[in-house]
Amino acid sequence: MRKDRLAHYRKKLVEKHRQLVEEVGKSALYGKGQEDDSIKDLGDQATTAYTREFLFELGNGDRRLLKEVVTALQKIDGGTFGTCERCGEPIVEKRLEALPFARYCIDCQRLVEQEERMTTG
Ligand SMILES: [Zn+2]
Repeated sequence: MRKDRLAHYRKKLVEKHRQLVEEVGKSALYGKGQEDDSIKDLGDQATTAYTREFLFELGNGDRRLLKEVVTALQKIDGGTFGTCERCGEPIVEKRLEALPFARYCIDCQRLVEQEERMTTG
């Protein structure tokens, strides 16, 4: 991939990374605040537990995405960015434009998702 294209995707990934770090940091802080409140007001415990569970789920998704973004940035440095991890073919730029952290080409993504559905039932 050309250097200017790589720089373009790096910029997108760095921006996404910054956003996610903010999100993950915020939910972690919020979660901590909830815990402190529950000590003061035990009556709200059920709602608090529910909210915390929800935030945890949300945080998990963000954290997973954050990992994907970091991996993509490492691939830019390693020179393997834009290559499908499964078949080794280049990932089309239209796909990278929408998902700069995509690990697979469209065909492999479909197969990976099918496999995941089969294993998780
Ligand atoms: Zn592929």
